[in-house]
Amino acid sequence: MSRIVKGQTGDWEIVIGMEVHAQVTSNSKLFSGASTEFGADPNSQVSFVDAGMPGMLPVINAKCIEQAVRTGLGLKAKINLRSLFDRKNYFYPDLPQGYQISQFKDPIVGEGEVTIDLKDGTSILVGIERLHLEQDAGKSIHDQHPDQSFVDLNRSGVALMEIVTKPHMRSSEEAAAFLKKLRAIVRYLGTCDGNMDEGSMRADVNVSVCRPGGYEKFRADGSFKHLGTRCEIKNVNSLRFIAHAVEYEARRQVDLLEEGGTIRQETRLFDSKQGETRSMRGKEEAHDYRYFPDPDLLPLELEQAYVDAIAKSLPELPDEKRARFIEGGLSPYDASVLVSERELADYYEELAKGVDAKAAANWLNNEILGRLNKAGLGITEVPVTAAANNAIIRMISDNTISGKIAKDLLDIVWLEGGDPKEVVESRGLRQVTDTGAIDAAIEAVIAANPEKVEEVKAKPKLAAWFVGQVMKQTGGKANPAAVNAALKIRLNLPDEG
Ligand code: ADP
Ligand code: MG
Repeated sequence: MSRIVKGQTGDWEIVIGMEVHAQVTSNSKLFSGASTEFGADPNSQVSFVDAGMPGMLPVINAKCIEQAVRTGLGLKAKINLRSLFDRKNYFYPDLPQGYQISQFKDPIVGEGEVTIDLKDGTSILVGIERLHLEQDAGKSIHDQHPDQSFVDLNRSGVALMEIVTKPHMRSSEEAAAFLKKLRAIVRYLGTCDGNMDEGSMRADVNVSVCRPGGYEKFRADGSFKHLGTRCEIKNVNSLRFIAHAVEYEARRQVDLLEEGGTIRQETRLFDSKQGETRSMRGKEEAHDYRYFPDPDLLPLELEQAYVDAIAKSLPELPDEKRARFIEGGLSPYDASVLVSERELADYYEELAKGVDAKAAANWLNNEILGRLNKAGLGITEVPVTAAANNAIIRMISDNTISGKIAKDLLDIVWLEGGDPKEVVESRGLRQVTDTGAIDAAIEAVIAANPEKVEEVKAKPKLAAWFVGQVMKQTGGKANPAAVNAALKIRLNLPDEG
């Protein structure tokens, strides 16, 4: 996935910045005590504040503040000890207050950064511009009745973190990788569940195109004049759609510019069924919202000691875990995959206890994730514990069982449960290293295939065929190294054969 779009008149570069709305994990809303639980009956979780009743006073939820600070620290960002809540005024049927309480000039979190690791092994830094807290709106429902719309206010007043990046992403791959990484970070932190299907995380993706070199100039002097005019694609709610939306939008802009048109700064919608973006409305400017400090809320002042205490309580985050895994012997790629989900990383750590890191990662990737994918399950639904898999890997490395039998063993405990060590004993799966038994199997194969014995002398590569036959003869239980060694002697093969 390239950073360049090829046009009729030459190359173009893509530039992307994102605004991500992440729902704060908290039991109650940003300024009221109403529940935030997903899936409740419409309008069953609405306080007078959330319904915009006149004269109601918002009261800040301390938990939401703590979550925003935690997230800011996880984004290596500056925490602003003084921030302000502003009213952002607009009319919408599902916004009964007539304004959203948000943060405009003085957000709770300032500049930070996120590292993203790309498939080719390189990493880039995406700058974070800010993170601010704001209320979510309600939801208008248009598909329940032929000529009526309904409003559900359960979501009204739920705390959102809006995380705004700098325009530092330059391809659909980078955009998707950023969102994936951000999602992993907030999930590690426990500040947002990252559930994109339920709308807990949604991204507005800003895309522009410019001639090659424009982005470098922008990075050199910070001036946006080197970049093209951007369009904002609203509410993209899946990692897959992000890549599609970016590719489509960049191509649309290039075609338009090359026909002599100009890009209008506007808000567009991604239609995932058609695979295209469509204009929704012209882009509003900040002054359209007539922001002003909410007179019901005092400035929010935090103490440094409070921020320090939260910093101390942060868990190990994906980047640190990845570095530790690489230190332990994993490839950067394997390490990135394993830390992408906290549950997966935890499972791996348990699985890898006291065994070779690479062997554990391979077992997890090939055997466990392979079986889970096939069954359409996630790591939290895995039927065999990490400890049981650790036991299987140990039995491979101490030659109790062969690699082949280990896979059969996993199939058995996957379907039937049970302790892998006991299954090995009860089903007689122990590896045969006894040379007498291996020699007997070799003789049986030779007796059945005398012509192959001559062939192998001319074509030493055929030895592999013999190994396969002997393994079959022993039900896969022979130690392959012992079989190789015994065959070499019996067939008089050269060493490197
Ligand atoms: P607004 O709040 O009006 O949408 P911002 O200045 O906060 O505007 O920017 C919104 C997002 O657009 C940010 O993520 C920023 O990185 C991105 N952005 C700004 N200019 C460009 C551009 N030329 N190309 C791509 N993204 C851009
Ligand atoms: Mg915006």
